[in-house]
Amino acid sequence: MDKTSSQSQKHPIPGRKYRVVYDKAGCIGVGACEAAAPLFWKLQEDGKATFVPKEAKKSETAEELIIDGKDFKVNLEAAEVCPVQVIKIFDEETGEQIFP
Ligand code: SF4
Repeated sequence: MDKTSSQSQKHPIPGRKYRVVYDKAGCIGVGACEAAAPLFWKLQEDGKATFVPKEAKKSETAEELIIDGKDFKVNLEAAEVCPVQVIKIFDEETGEQIFP
């Protein structure tokens, strides 16, 4: 209904996919993401977080994962607790940046 609204979505739209984009280069290794969403995030020995799901796309400096609406909330929490806001969430259909 409010597709054109620029208001941030804090609740997933049923059936919608979301893209979680992680700027690994900016991670300072606090581990708050892992504490918030351990099924999606883990801190590695190099002091950087990484996605847990195997389907995540990974390079040395960035990672990306497409998630379903059911996994939106927990990933939003991980993004919100990251002190340097290197986890961003986009609406995969509209491209709207939802967080930060
Ligand atoms: S919360 Fe942010 S800075 Fe901390 S490990 Fe996760 S991504 Fe890195």
